[in-house]
Amino acid sequence: MYINVLVELKAKKLDKTFTYNVPSSLVDKIEVGKRVLVPFGRQKLEGFILSICNESDFSYEIKDIISVIDDSVVINNEMMELGKYIKKKTLCTLISAYQTMLPSALKAHKDFVVNKKYETYLTLCCDIEVKSDKQKEVYELLKSNEFVLKKDCTTISSYVVKSFLEKGYIKEVKKEVYRNNLSDIKEESNIILNDEQQLAVDKVISSDGFKPYLIHGVTGSGKTEVYMHIIDYYLSKGKEALVLVPEISLTPQMVLNFRKRFGTSIAILHSSLSDGEKYDEYRKILNKEVSIVIGARSAIFAPLTNIGVIIIDEEHSSTYKQDNTPKYNAIDIAIYRGRYHNSPVVLGSATPSIESYTRASSGIYELINLKKRVNNNLPKVLLVDMKDEIKAGNRVFSKVLTDSINDRISRGEQVILLLNRRGFSTISSCSDCGFVDKCPNCDIPLVYHKSSNTMRCHYCGYGSSKKRECPICHNKSLNDFGMGTEKLEEYVKDNFSGARVVRMDVDTTSRKGAHEKIISDFKSLKYNVLIGTQMIAKGLDFPLVTLVGVINGDASLSIPDFRSGERTFQLLNQVAGRAGRSDLPGEVIIQGFNMEHYSIVDASLHDYNSFYNEEMRIRKLLKYPPFYNLCSIKIKSKYEDKAFSEGNKIVSYLKSNLDSTNIILGPSSSNMLKVNNIYNVLIVIKYKKTDNLIDKLLFISDKYIDSKDVLIDIDLNPYKI
Ligand code: ADP
Ligand code: ZN
Repeated sequence: MYINVLVELKAKKLDKTFTYNVPSSLVDKIEVGKRVLVPFGRQKLEGFILSICNESDFSYEIKDIISVIDDSVVINNEMMELGKYIKKKTLCTLISAYQTMLPSALKAHKDFVVNKKYETYLTLCCDIEVKSDKQKEVYELLKSNEFVLKKDCTTISSYVVKSFLEKGYIKEVKKEVYRNNLSDIKEESNIILNDEQQLAVDKVISSDGFKPYLIHGVTGSGKTEVYMHIIDYYLSKGKEALVLVPEISLTPQMVLNFRKRFGTSIAILHSSLSDGEKYDEYRKILNKEVSIVIGARSAIFAPLTNIGVIIIDEEHSSTYKQDNTPKYNAIDIAIYRGRYHNSPVVLGSATPSIESYTRASSGIYELINLKKRVNNNLPKVLLVDMKDEIKAGNRVFSKVLTDSINDRISRGEQVILLLNRRGFSTISSCSDCGFVDKCPNCDIPLVYHKSSNTMRCHYCGYGSSKKRECPICHNKSLNDFGMGTEKLEEYVKDNFSGARVVRMDVDTTSRKGAHEKIISDFKSLKYNVLIGTQMIAKGLDFPLVTLVGVINGDASLSIPDFRSGERTFQLLNQVAGRAGRSDLPGEVIIQGFNMEHYSIVDASLHDYNSFYNEEMRIRKLLKYPPFYNLCSIKIKSKYEDKAFSEGNKIVSYLKSNLDSTNIILGPSSSNMLKVNNIYNVLIVIKYKKTDNLIDKLLFISDKYIDSKDVLIDIDLNPYKI
């Protein structure tokens, strides 16, 4: 018997299978989708069996495989095909498509082992005549449970356990356990859906097989409740559900709601789990011990085999697109899997991406609207132009925001303040010669972090101490400009008596569990002001938050990206949605300098349609998605001139080989020309059809396979350019 094996090496020129012979002793273990260890040149490598063949006349020598690694299949039929789809869709190698679908423990990866975890249990072998209270206690425990954790018995008395074992009254049993076992916090729900919600549920569950839906529901319209009812239905039909959220740590309340509704029948997959924990969650799914999977992007590959529904919450989120190879979009994968399992796919958002809403408007997705908040009141939003305020001497907060904060503090309510910039001050420069303290690797200004008293680069992580004088003109006073969340926190603490302030951003949440702690402390009123970056905009539900203030609400508009308007609208809409979620009315105050911009005005009016229409007008004018598709080609090199000269070659190749319906832009320096000492030069192709394009792109990427100085990074449908 011969097998075709895809080995673990990622090199493009190895993107094919190699044939091996299977010694007769191993034939029984062979199955497509299992891993094998094979000789490869002088190395030993792991690889996946992609097919079995029986032909025998090879013109070259066929080697024997060394061993079969798995007892059961690691890549099932669905995943086999899905890998090919990802390769085609993202131009990656087949091996990187398969590897990305699997947890580390199951990737083809020589000498990499993730262990299963075992615990020692005790079990009774016979009746015991007890003589002491301790003996009785241990015996009773074992009598009422078939297996009891050994450590639970030894905490009663290790002496008793030892003697019972010696006498053969009880014995030890090693059992495989999962590292993260959820406690059961299931409770009855008495929520009755309102008419809009019920209609949404009915539509989805009446679908006959595969169908994509877009639920456009304002913040607080009860989307989670709709998702849970849909899932209930499919579970009752004996099926499974797959739920994606942008980031587990940002949506702790959603996960909690699911656990309350569905108990322990949930696997939770996210990036901060250890390899062992991920493996355990994965095996719960394989072993059919759970029927719901909740997770971030890569959870879309969860090995469910009987999917009833796939739900993608906050479908507009950029986190669904993977930046690294393979550059897949989880929504595409969801649609693929929905088709495969013949199940509906539900995308949900208060601010759908322009592309998704266009698909819904043209009938590719069915649109479902949830127009009302469950409590029927959307917060009032006030826009404040800071140009006038600064003239009046109000540099950080406008008068109205200051008054409103004081008012909430005195009423015992809570305030959320968003400033989407972390650190203390954002730029340090010399007032005499204009020197700016920049990152030596990335050529962007360093940000001052007061808590660690360091200057830090937010791109590559470079850090240095704060300069005491200007290195150019030796002026002693370097000035700090700009404001980040650290400075805002200090300002609020200094200027509002009665403010109990907590800050949530990347810097305060790096430790495991820090996030949850801030949220639960804020919820239990230990604090009354929560300051944070966009991290606080998503999914949080605090009934006593009646005021949301946004500082520099227009800042994201100055990011040179075709989605900057869309992202500004989404961010403002989402953070505004945190206010007034209970019976208390909510108020939102957005400050900035460019308050006439449509994305800000429409966010303040909760008017998605007006925003959509204006954004579409501009996208059409500038030939951006959904009118054109985008492809970005990044040329990366340590040498700026090389990056540009290769860029020029690629552009002239594309221009002479693609027809004129394609628009080719560049080469130009990308937004971040230099990151970590690598120059990034960008070519953008705007195209309508992929017909001719894919071959040309493959040709370009093949041409640079072995180049030492230049790396080519192609992204079909990048989220941003
Ligand atoms: P969204 O995700 O649309 O912003 P949520 O799903 O978080 O909204 O719901 C907002 C709040 O309303 C939650 O506290 C939820 O429990 C509650 N809720 C949802 N549906 C109902 C309902 N039909 N009746 C009462 N409360 C509801
Ligand atoms: Zn840097």
